[in-house]
Amino acid sequence: MAGGGGGGRMGGRFMTEEEKANQPKITKALLKRVFSYLTPYWKQLAFVLVCIAVSSVMSLYPQVLTGKILDKGIIGKDLNMLIFLILASFGLTLASNLIGVLEAYLNAWIAQHITFDMRNQMFAHLQKMSQRFFTSNNQGDIITRMTSDISGVESVITNTFRNILQNSITLVVALVMMFRMNWILALLGVCIIPLFVIPTRKAGKTRWKLTGEAQECNDEINGILNETMSVSGQLLVKLFGKEKQEYDRYESANGRMIRLNIRERMAGRWFFVVLNTVTNIGPMLLYLVGGILIIQYKKDISPGDITVMVGLLGRTYMPVNNLLNIQVDWMRSMALFTRIFEYFDMPVEIENAPDAITPESTTGEVEFNGVDFSYDPERQILKDVTFKLEAGHSVAIVGPSGSGKSTIINLIPRLYDVQSGEVRFGGIDVRKLDLTFLRKNVGVVSQETYLFNGTIRENLLYAKDDATEEEMIEACKKANIYDFISSQEAGLDTMVGNRGLKLSGGEKQRISIARVLLKNPALLIFDEATSALDSISESKIQEAIDPIIEERTSILIAHRLSTILAADEILVVKDGQIVERGQHSDLVKLGGVYTELYNTQFNRPLNTEKAKAEQQTAVNAVPVTE
Ligand code: ATP
Repeated sequence: MAGGGGGGRMGGRFMTEEEKANQPKITKALLKRVFSYLTPYWKQLAFVLVCIAVSSVMSLYPQVLTGKILDKGIIGKDLNMLIFLILASFGLTLASNLIGVLEAYLNAWIAQHITFDMRNQMFAHLQKMSQRFFTSNNQGDIITRMTSDISGVESVITNTFRNILQNSITLVVALVMMFRMNWILALLGVCIIPLFVIPTRKAGKTRWKLTGEAQECNDEINGILNETMSVSGQLLVKLFGKEKQEYDRYESANGRMIRLNIRERMAGRWFFVVLNTVTNIGPMLLYLVGGILIIQYKKDISPGDITVMVGLLGRTYMPVNNLLNIQVDWMRSMALFTRIFEYFDMPVEIENAPDAITPESTTGEVEFNGVDFSYDPERQILKDVTFKLEAGHSVAIVGPSGSGKSTIINLIPRLYDVQSGEVRFGGIDVRKLDLTFLRKNVGVVSQETYLFNGTIRENLLYAKDDATEEEMIEACKKANIYDFISSQEAGLDTMVGNRGLKLSGGEKQRISIARVLLKNPALLIFDEATSALDSISESKIQEAIDPIIEERTSILIAHRLSTILAADEILVVKDGQIVERGQHSDLVKLGGVYTELYNTQFNRPLNTEKAKAEQQTAVNAVPVTE
C-alpha cells in the first residue's frame, strides 16, 4: 500500500508539461464518433461479445475442475470421477477454443469492413479537397493517413476492443469465482494487483509519446522517399549531384526512427520485471497463507481449493496486465482516430452550392470582374483582374514568369475561389454553377502534362470512357499526333511509361491535346509549356491548336509569338494585374511590358508557313529594338 501511494506521488512529480500536452483529449464526442463506425455492425458485434463471454467462462472452468480432480478424484480415490472430470475439462477447453476461432473470424470481418468504409470515406473526402490542400500538405503525410493510420484502426478493433472485452470478462469471472471460494485468499491476491498499476501507467505515457514521435518520423521518411524516388526527383538529385546530401538526410531520419523504435519497445520493459516477480510471489503467498489457515486455524479449506485459488489468481494477472497495457493501446488508438478525424474535419473548401445551377449547355464565355486572389493571406497575387472573353473567341495571356497567368486560369474551373470580385462562365458566377458541369466544360492542357502509366488508348479514354476508335483517331489527327501513333508498332496501345516519360515533351502535349478534344469542352485552356520544345514539335503543336481555337472559346497562356498571333486579343499580365491589352500590332508599339516581352521572348523563328508570314507582318510593326 505504502509503495503504491509513494509511487503515485512520484509519478505525479515526474510528469512533464510536454507529457501532459501530448495526451489525446478523449472526449465524449470523440468516443461517440469512433463508435459510430461500429454501429452498422452491431449485430455481429453483439455475437462477438457473446462468444467472448462464453469462451472466457469456459476457459476458466477447467481451473475450478482441477480442485475437484484433486479433492474428489485423487484424494477421494474415485477413478470414475477422475476420468469424468478430466474429460469434462478437456471438452471445455476444446469448446472454448472452437468458439475463439469463430470469434476471431467475426472480429476480422468487422475490422476489415470498418477499415473498408473508412478508407473509401477518406478517399472520397480527399478528392473533394482543393488544390490548396494538395499543394500545402506533404504527400507522404497524406499517404500515411490513407494507409498506415487506417490500417491501425483494424488493429484497434481486432486487438484493443477485443482485449478490453475479453480481459474484463475473464477478470470479473475469475474474481467472482475466487471470492466465492475464500474471501481471505481472494483479498490477498487482489492486494498484489496495485503493484502493477504504477509502473504500467508511467510506461504507457512514455510509449504513447514515443509512438507519436515515431509516427512523425515515419511521415518524414515517406516524404523523403516520395521526393527522391520519383522520376523527376531522382533526375534533380542526379543533375545537381545531391546523392550524398539526400543519403545523409535519409540516413539521419532513418537513424532517428530506429532510436525511437528501440526506445518505444524498451519503455515499459522494466515493468515486466516487476510483473514477473509478482507473478511468482503471488502463488507462494497464497500457499503460505492457505497453509497457515489450514494448519494453525483449522479453516475448512481443502488443498484442492488452494490449488484452484492459485490457478485463478494466475489467470487474473494476464487480464490485469493486458488491461493496464490497453490503457496505452487505448490512448494510441484514440490518437490514431484523432489524426484520422483531423483529416475528415478539414473543411471542403470548394464544393457545390446547395442550389447549384446546371445549365442545358454553355458557350464557354468567360468574364472576370474585379478579381482579387491570394494563395495565402500574406501575399496578394491577382489584383482587380477584369476581362471578358466572348463565346467563340480566343484570348492570349502573356506576362513575365510568376506574374499570375496560371493563377488566372486556375480560377475558372474553381481549383481555387476568388477572394473578391467574380468569375463568370457562360454568364453565371462559377460559384453558383454545378462543379461537375463546370469542370466538364472547361478543358485544360496544362504545362505539366500528366499521363498515367498505361497505353495511349487508356490515357485518351480517361477523358471519355465510351469514346469509339474513330473518335479517338479523329482527336489524334486534330492534335497532330496520329502520324506518330500509327508509326508505332502497337499504335494506340503503345505504353507511355511512368507519367508518360517514354514520350517526348511535344508528343505528350499533343496526346494531352487529343485527350482534351475527346472531352470536347466549351472552353479550352492551353497553358503553353515554357520549356523550349524543338521548332518541329513546336510547329506541330501550333498546327494542332490553330484550327481548334478557331472553332471554340479558348484561352492561351502563351510564350511564343505564333500562339499569341493566333488569338483574337492579348492580355498582358504583370504582378497580378492586367497592364496592357489589345492586338499585337498595337501593343508592340506601346514600348511597355509587351514590347519588352516581345524583344526578349517572343521574337523567335518559327516553322509553319502561316506563322512565318504572320510573324513577318508582326515584325514589320515593331519599333526599333536592340
Ligand atoms: P509561369 O509563366 O512561370 O508559369 P505564371 O505567370 O503562370 O508563371 P503563377 O503560376 O500564376 O505564375 O504564379 C503567380 C504567383 O503565385 C507566383 O509568385 C507563385 O510563386 C505564386 N503561387 C503559385 N502557385 C501557388 C500556390 N499553390 N501557393 C502559393 N503560391 C503560389
